[in-house]
Amino acid sequence: MNDCIFCKIINREIPSDIVYEDENVLAFKDITPQMPIHILVIPKRHIKSIADLKVEDENLTGKIFTAINKIAKDIGIHKTGFRIISNCGEDAGQTVKHLHFHILAGEKMSEEII
Ligand code: AMP
Ligand code: ZN
Repeated sequence: MNDCIFCKIINREIPSDIVYEDENVLAFKDITPQMPIHILVIPKRHIKSIADLKVEDENLTGKIFTAINKIAKDIGIHKTGFRIISNCGEDAGQTVKHLHFHILAGEKMSEEII
């Protein structure tokens, strides 16, 4: 996916503030944070959204959530709490068509942020 902004971040073609990386997963700070802590966690392989996951991707999605768990512990929000959001498709307002999970944290959240 040449025109995918997150693939460009993975390939270091555009800069980002990376907070976690392993063989399959990358996490970086959201460029327009909606909360004091706002991190995006993505698979390194281009997948459009949760709606495009296949059974064979089960292992990868497990790895994404293991990475989220590690990041939460690294930055201490496993104690205070955090919210995971993945917008999928038009009605949810997904703007970047590369699967991503928002980690939101750093202050008490109202329900409206959903
Ligand atoms: P969504 O609306 O769920 O598709 O979220 C896309 C997110 O990507 C938004 O929160 C954007 O602020 C974020 N974003 C877009 N471009 C960049 C970028 N170059 N670096 C970091 N975050 C980005
Ligand atoms: Zn991509």
